[in-house]
Amino acid sequence: MFAQFGPAGNPDAFYEAGFKASADMPKWLDGLSLTAYEYQCSRGVNIRQATAELVGEEAARYGVKLSIHAPYYISLATEDETIAGNTQRHFLRSLEVAKWMGADRIVFHIGGPGKGANRRQAMERAKRLFAQVLEQVERQGLTGPLLLPETMGKQNQLGSLDEVLEICKLADWVRPAVDFGHLHCVTGGEYTTSKEFAAVFDKIGETLGEEAARNLHIHFSQIEFTKAGEKRHWTFADPYGPPHEPLLAVIADRGYTPRIICESAGTQAQDAKTMQEFYRSLLKKDLVV
Ligand SMILES: [Zn+2]
Repeated sequence: MFAQFGPAGNPDAFYEAGFKASADMPKWLDGLSLTAYEYQCSRGVNIRQATAELVGEEAARYGVKLSIHAPYYISLATEDETIAGNTQRHFLRSLEVAKWMGADRIVFHIGGPGKGANRRQAMERAKRLFAQVLEQVERQGLTGPLLLPETMGKQNQLGSLDEVLEICKLADWVRPAVDFGHLHCVTGGEYTTSKEFAAVFDKIGETLGEEAARNLHIHFSQIEFTKAGEKRHWTFADPYGPPHEPLLAVIADRGYTPRIICESAGTQAQDAKTMQEFYRSLLKKDLVV
């Protein structure tokens, strides 16, 4: 088993080649020897069943592993009943689409703590609502895919690594999605060395077990940040951090098999390929030694 690489959403080059439909992505990715694809439902779950099934069939044909990014509107710490109800629905709809597609992972954002809210109390609210979501999912027979809270890049969002791990403890089918670009932003520029990247895997292993660390879902892109955190996603050609090489060194060195989704702005497939090639060069080096 090897690490899997692929893009979040459809890159510019895909459209420039004349394609429009996401169902064409698995074949297009296969042409690049990429084996992962994160389908974006970030602005709402609007995909039709027939389309979702077609994406799924194509992904299965080309051996591309599918994940889904759930809507940004999920807000687990909300005190508003309507938003809480909508949050539940976003999860259930995402799971329904995952079933149609055969996606095995759903990434989501925990949400904001609320204006002026106490972060600790917000986390307690988030855990309460999420526990209800998990119960609903089980009741409706939609279990199967893993649910993945993501580490966030802005100070005013819930989703530090510790907060994400706290949410993961609610069920064994909840696992972290670690966005290293976000961690870089929210810490004002950390995560540039193998030691810093390794510490994340170690913490996950200690908290959730070795398997969770080994098969981690990773988001990676170079991101510009300010004091408030994440500002803008860039490409590997731009002068922003974090660097991918020390992260891939840890993964190759430990023989881990994560799924790494690249979120570069427009060049996400090309940059995923750059990471895959670097990772493969590290594995080859190991063989020689
Ligand atoms: Zn995200």
